[in-house]
Amino acid sequence: MTFWNRKIVLVSTPTNKGTSRIEAAYQESDQRRFWVPCPDCGAEQVLTWTQVRWSKGPEGDHRPETARYHCAECDAAWRDETRWAAVSKGHWVAEQPFAGVVGFHLNEIYSPWVRLEAMVRAFLSARSGGDETMKTFVNTSLGETWVETGEAPDWQRLYDRREAWKPGTVPAGGLFLTAGADVQKDRVEVDVWAWGRGLESWLVDHVVIEGGPGDPTCWQRLTDLLGRSWTHANGVPMNIARLAIDTGYETSAVYAWARQVGFAQVAPVKGVDGFNRSAPVTGPTYVDATVAGKRLRRGARLWTVATSTFKAETYRFLRQERPTAEEVDAGAAFPPGTIHLPGWTDSEWLKQLTAEQLVTVRTRRGFAKLEWQKLRERNEALDTRVYARAAAWIAGADRWSEAYWSDMERQLAVPARVDAAGINPGRTARPASRRRAVRSNYMG
Ligand SMILES: [Zn+2]
Repeated sequence: MTFWNRKIVLVSTPTNKGTSRIEAAYQESDQRRFWVPCPDCGAEQVLTWTQVRWSKGPEGDHRPETARYHCAECDAAWRDETRWAAVSKGHWVAEQPFAGVVGFHLNEIYSPWVRLEAMVRAFLSARSGGDETMKTFVNTSLGETWVETGEAPDWQRLYDRREAWKPGTVPAGGLFLTAGADVQKDRVEVDVWAWGRGLESWLVDHVVIEGGPGDPTCWQRLTDLLGRSWTHANGVPMNIARLAIDTGYETSAVYAWARQVGFAQVAPVKGVDGFNRSAPVTGPTYVDATVAGKRLRRGARLWTVATSTFKAETYRFLRQERPTAEEVDAGAAFPPGTIHLPGWTDSEWLKQLTAEQLVTVRTRRGFAKLEWQKLRERNEALDTRVYARAAAWIAGADRWSEAYWSDMERQLAVPARVDAAGINPGRTARPASRRRAVRSNYMG
């Protein structure tokens, strides 16, 4: 305030499209981007991730060391040194008239300290994780806002591509089981999901336990479910590794039951809204529980789940392109995150899974905010999916090393596979041999 020539500087990576404050500030500026001349044809261009390409080996495995930047005009492939030399000859161009505020945008491709090989590795690793890791890549490496994908997939399309496998069994790619339990007034609904590499998942069972939280036999049947097993394609019996149960409806009954069966297998969860949380799941926190009328200080553990994040991830996974039956027969794998639904899934369950949509609303103070809204009353299938996904997170699936996944495969004697991220990179899911150079495709 003291100086006539003071400047205010805002620096940030962006967050979500439509709600990012640095994006809003940049929109108010003269919006400068850095233009770089091609050493081959001289065409000036803004460097974007879509021009980064790399090849794949005969097995369809990615070869990040072959990553090159391709000129948008003449397609010349630049090595890292070429790119750095080109960047040194670049200049800023404003896209809007100057009205007192200058704005600059850069991504990591401009960095003189980063090789494209490293960026491609980071991209592949981010893509094989869930939405959280991909969002971090888009925000911090590309400097772009993340577009939350909240449009519900069409339930009829999901109905038409249900897959046939023996009910009550776990397909070969499923390496561990989690469950999500939704407590209602008159019943508890539980869905059991199998998870594989790259968070590929299969709906294994749908159980409705009649009774509700006031009925002891209902809890007994939920306890029985924890001891039940489902048979893996290789004949190995599998139990539920983690069951996440919603505490929203009858908190004390859920705590009492969880205490009784133990927190190793059961995770009481509380859902919260909002996207800009540090992690999709936090906890556990120790909370008071009441058992048989007695109050126990810090007697239960509670996990907090950002349901918004997992709903968006689920819908993105459901909307992904998948290989055709013919391509699957020829050995093509499903992209990371693919959700497989069995033939017994009925239309009511599918309507529940697709019961919500993400909309942008304005808060009273005028900020844009993303919010999930129900399109129909019943949405238990979506809730239980989100809880089962949270259970996979709590079990550690988002952070397991390659060695850990291999170890699980060995225990189930599943033939080792190439990393799921390494199989099917293209949006067209074509066999790798037809097109060697793949365009990056981070929007999934
Ligand atoms: Zn060129």
